[in-house]
Amino acid sequence: MVEFNIDKVAGKNEKILVTAALPYANGELHLGHIRSTYVPADIYTRFLRSLGYDAIYVCAADAHGTPILFGAEQAGKSPEDYVKYWHDEHERVLSELGVKFDIFYTTHSPENIALSQEFFTTLKEAGYIYKKETEHFYCPNCKRFLPDRFVRGTCPYCGAEDQYSDSCEQCGRTYDQKDVKDPRCAICGTVPILKKSEHYFFQLTKFKDFLADYLKNNENLQEEVKNYVLNWLDDLKDWDITRDMTWGVPIPGEKNKVLYVWFDAPIGYLSSLKKLKPDTWKEYKTMIHFIGKDIVYHHYLFWPAMLSKAWHVLPTAIPVRGFLKLEGKKFSKSRKWYISIEDGIKYFGADHLRFYITLTTPYSTEDGNFSLKEFQERINNELVGNLGNFIYRTLSFIKTKFDGVVPKGEPDKGLWDEVKKLTSDVISLMKEIKLKRALEKILAISALGNQYFQKKKPWELVKSEKEEDKIKLNDVLYNSAGLVRTLGILMEPFCPFASAELKRQIAFEGSYASAGEPLQKGAKLGQIKPLFKTFDNEEIEKIRKKVLTN
Ligand SMILES: [Zn+2]
Ligand SMILES: [Zn+2]
Repeated sequence: MVEFNIDKVAGKNEKILVTAALPYANGELHLGHIRSTYVPADIYTRFLRSLGYDAIYVCAADAHGTPILFGAEQAGKSPEDYVKYWHDEHERVLSELGVKFDIFYTTHSPENIALSQEFFTTLKEAGYIYKKETEHFYCPNCKRFLPDRFVRGTCPYCGAEDQYSDSCEQCGRTYDQKDVKDPRCAICGTVPILKKSEHYFFQLTKFKDFLADYLKNNENLQEEVKNYVLNWLDDLKDWDITRDMTWGVPIPGEKNKVLYVWFDAPIGYLSSLKKLKPDTWKEYKTMIHFIGKDIVYHHYLFWPAMLSKAWHVLPTAIPVRGFLKLEGKKFSKSRKWYISIEDGIKYFGADHLRFYITLTTPYSTEDGNFSLKEFQERINNELVGNLGNFIYRTLSFIKTKFDGVVPKGEPDKGLWDEVKKLTSDVISLMKEIKLKRALEKILAISALGNQYFQKKKPWELVKSEKEEDKIKLNDVLYNSAGLVRTLGILMEPFCPFASAELKRQIAFEGSYASAGEPLQKGAKLGQIKPLFKTFDNEEIEKIRKKVLTN
């Protein structure tokens, strides 16, 4: 069944906002972070633009919350400096991965603080936020309230130990801090006491019918996710949106109280959009949020509920992908079982990573696995052996035998009928965000090219003196060069660096809309070199030793 399809939600003259989950500004990003969000959202936006859609890609540093305050305190920095540092690091490393945001802003911005306060006031005046005195953890040793992650303990749902006190990394549930078992102060380990404080609550319970309706009637949402989110509707709880601390969005009319980070973080999508498009930001009626499955609760429940009373647009689609494992085991920074994006780019190359990650990420919340052995096989056999090989053999043949000038020839009708069909399949799949299957179709086009080249044997034709063989030879290279152009266009969203390099080798024109057409005009080739590299066993083992130390 077709769920999401851009054709169902937006025309080419409508504004589309694509977002990736905001990276939390308190540490290095690793390969587990790119699978569900930064890479697929980047591929999708590049595709939409190539097809002529008015799409922008917005992201920001998620700057508030206790882990940042905690991290800044440990690093001896102000939270502002700490956030700025990680913001800049994330922007740099993601850009090296080819992730091209139109804006990478921050939730600690004047726009976000103002808009979050506006959301708060609107929801409060409409009767969806109330105030109540409640008890909160307080460390008698540190003499401070201990919001969220300043307490650690055992998950009340699945029993996982040493979890943050607001959400469980193991089962993905969020819960009230007081429900956590065996609580401890995360700074000093003291058992906290309870102390009274006035907090604001967002009445999520009032949104049960709205959310049921939104989930059931929005066919653009991912079916498998909807099914489990619908189960959560029976135990919705009002949501404590206050924290007794000073780092965050100040609550209007209060002192030393800020909004909970999950209140202002998604508003960061809109405030960053406002920063980028101050005149037209309210005209973006299609919102596509790419997220990982750890934040489904926030995006499928809290966020639409907030938007329904404080904004004029609801999320159009919220594609969710599963976690990435590393050699079958969960990524873990504390156990040093992870590969940073930085190391990933250094050892594997940005395009190789994007290719492998996409090829192993289906349209589902299923977890994936990063295996060095599988990476090696897929890169060597599919990216290099199939796609790279076809492009390189075609261009180097033209370079050496035709003095670098693509010969004129006749389009091979049978070939181009097939290419057009495959290209149109690629576009249909891309429109539905089925990126893995679209990439497989692109590989089918280069496989077709390899078969064509192999069957026509240009290396034999070139030796013949016969006039008809010369014509045949011209046709083969003309059609093959046309296929190179097709592949160069289609692979741009997936492997942008290789696509740009290919443009230096054979200056091609066109976009996704014309990708299935034969070459319109001849071209003079630049310097030809392979676009991708292979990995031998020795190199893979060397990388394994370097990046996986335990
Ligand atoms: Zn749990
Ligand atoms: Zn303490």
